[in-house]
Amino acid sequence: MNPQSFDTDRFTAALTRQWQRFGLRDAQEMNPQQWWHALSGALAELMADLPAQAANGPQRHVNYLSMEFLTGRLTGNNLLNLGWYQPVSDALAGCGVDLSEVLERETDPALGNGGLGRLAACFLDAMATTGQPAIGYGLNYQYGLFRQHFVEGAQHEQPDDWGRDRYPWFRHNAALTVQVGLGGKVTTENGLPRWEPAFLLQGEAWDLPVVGYQNGVIQPLRLWQAKHAHPFNLQRFNDGDFLRAEQQGIDAEKLTKVLYPNDNHLAGKKLRLMQQYFQCACTLADILRRHHQAGRAIESLPDYEVIQLNDTHPTLAIPELLRLLLDQHQLSWEQAWRITQRTFAYTNHTLMPEALECWNLRLVRTLLPRHMMIINTINAQLKKEVEARWPGNEAIWAKLAVVHNQQLRMANLCVVSGFAVNGVAALHSKLVVQDLFPAYHALWPEKFHNVTNGITPRRWIQQCNPALAALIGKTLRRPWLNDLDALSDLAPLAEDAAFRAEYRAIKQENKAALTRWIAEQTGIHVQPDALFDVQIKRLHEYKRQHLMLLHIIALWQTLVSDPQANLTPRVMLFGAKAAPGYALAKNIIYAINKVAAVVNADPRVGDRLKIVFIPDYNVSVAERLIPAADLSEQISTAGKEASGTGNMKLALNGALTIGTLDGANVEIAQQVGEENIFIFGHTVEQVSALKQAGYAPTTWRKKDPQLDRALTALEDGTFSDGDRTAFAALTRSLGPEGGDPYLVLADFRHYLNAQQQVEALWADRDAWTRAAILNTARCGMFSADRAIRDYQQRIWQAAR
Ligand SMILES: *Cc1c(COP(=O)(O)O)cnc(C)c1O
Repeated sequence: MNPQSFDTDRFTAALTRQWQRFGLRDAQEMNPQQWWHALSGALAELMADLPAQAANGPQRHVNYLSMEFLTGRLTGNNLLNLGWYQPVSDALAGCGVDLSEVLERETDPALGNGGLGRLAACFLDAMATTGQPAIGYGLNYQYGLFRQHFVEGAQHEQPDDWGRDRYPWFRHNAALTVQVGLGGKVTTENGLPRWEPAFLLQGEAWDLPVVGYQNGVIQPLRLWQAKHAHPFNLQRFNDGDFLRAEQQGIDAEKLTKVLYPNDNHLAGKKLRLMQQYFQCACTLADILRRHHQAGRAIESLPDYEVIQLNDTHPTLAIPELLRLLLDQHQLSWEQAWRITQRTFAYTNHTLMPEALECWNLRLVRTLLPRHMMIINTINAQLKKEVEARWPGNEAIWAKLAVVHNQQLRMANLCVVSGFAVNGVAALHSKLVVQDLFPAYHALWPEKFHNVTNGITPRRWIQQCNPALAALIGKTLRRPWLNDLDALSDLAPLAEDAAFRAEYRAIKQENKAALTRWIAEQTGIHVQPDALFDVQIKRLHEYKRQHLMLLHIIALWQTLVSDPQANLTPRVMLFGAKAAPGYALAKNIIYAINKVAAVVNADPRVGDRLKIVFIPDYNVSVAERLIPAADLSEQISTAGKEASGTGNMKLALNGALTIGTLDGANVEIAQQVGEENIFIFGHTVEQVSALKQAGYAPTTWRKKDPQLDRALTALEDGTFSDGDRTAFAALTRSLGPEGGDPYLVLADFRHYLNAQQQVEALWADRDAWTRAAILNTARCGMFSADRAIRDYQQRIWQAAR
């Protein structure tokens, strides 16, 4: 019997137990929220009884460490991957209940900021699907990424208490609870260092199931939750020091209360460093426990386990492993170092200096005195190696040192201590070698790799765009969701008028559905026939939402000066959260909303231009917008976006990209062909040449009257009831004072020219649909399954 075949009777029995637990007498008494709870609880119960294969093969087991896992809703996704969607839908229909409505009740677990956390979630799905044994390790935050809403156009944040304590997919694994120390001092005992922490906390393991695509595999995403050590400080409690004992308990639980809301930016806060160490210590204890339980010698750890670090946030796992090997297993430094070096691999996600983690040494020493000693040893050992290679070269040492200027550099520690370093797109990996780590590359060229990111087609086609998935399935007539290269067989059908009609009708229906939802959510009425021009991603200067805003203002000004102008009707769609402390990003959101209010209410404009900023962008919002997008805005300054994954989701769903030669856009262009994508803007080389020559934004403004008019409208109060300071942060950043660090002005004209090409192609709807089909057909390589196979071949199974 298929281990995952659906048993209606057992499902009904499990569902009954759920509503009985609510104290109800009948399933019909459940409200929609209870239906979601009961359904998810029942499914979790059935899954726990499945003969759950962990993926099992000769491969090394992967431990994927990430501070963030942006999973999105689980119930619908698990049903699809189990192959249970239809029978469950039928069973619920029997009770007069609509499954898709029930699934809408789930609050997104938003345990991540954006691309990095979403990548981790896609990779877990792909590892389960490809049969790569793996555990994801992260933190169980009580509050996920804040909820965003707008007050008079300005972003306001509300805490996201997503209900972890009642989330039916969690399984608390009490046998795995670990103790974690913090602070204190290091003494010597029998000539060996001994760490005596000042505080002890407990880490509880809360597991979410990661279901492979119809292959019987279920593996855990293990999220650690902090509790006070139990019995907490019994000594103090007995001594009558109730308050301090209590205090310690309260502090401990604070540790996993909130996710830091920064994306591509270092917060540098003590609590954040404590979170990082807590995650690493719990995880390392768990990995070594499993290794020991399998009856394996500690020396063989790297033969069985690999630890993949998703950015530098979990770097402290490195000195933590060394500490355990040295102090608990009493290995020599040489032995411990050899094991460590063969265990860790590091994924770099950014070159931007403000995002590269550096920690104040005093803070590290205070929280982790023993780890600080170990890090100093690594640094001293590195210094010898560098000195041997480049005698007396202080400049090179200043770049390579792990400890420098009273700072601990996490990326350097990762490169030095592991066997592999990878970037996340071909261009980015090249820049990692050229610009970030050239001297490390000279020392250890074999460590450096590229693995271009990918996305899971289960969530990002099948779940979010069922009509397109059905058309693909009907056309290919073979499994394709776990073999996305199969999409290439669709390419010839771009020439088939009947297929184009079907493909286009699906896009049109998706746009109609989005139109209805936008009206419900925002009260804005848009025309589903218009070009849906979409930019959805975190708000960041480098991503240049303000470049799209300048285009919008220019279009509006054209319509105002020539009300008869024959413009392509467009709906400009944004979704973006700004970090609460990032004032300029918030000012850009405010500007977009204020411009939207003026333009949307302008009778001269009518349906030719509408602007919609969807509040609270998250995975579920992405699932609605992506299938309905015509144009995908990927317009970062060249060299700044490491890869992007939103670009892949949109291209696969048949949106054409307008983008710079940045991140994975370069590879998307190679795949789809230059006639099926709109590439514009300065290249990486041209950007650095411009900066070298002394970039002055004013020059660019002066020579382009349309650009000048658009900027002036932001400065003169046109969109802010005469208030000339409303967008000062934004306009200042683009002027001589701010210096326009992301070259918005320099790319404006290229961008508008590319938008003209967009309109020309849109005017020939058959040609547009042909290009859209070719985007779907030629983006198979952006499956996360391919990315996982690349990790296996280039990193996990290669060097041992
Ligand atoms: C895919 C995704 C991202 C990443 O988008 P980019 O355009 O690659 O920055 C961010 N947030 C959510 C919710 C996503 O689904």
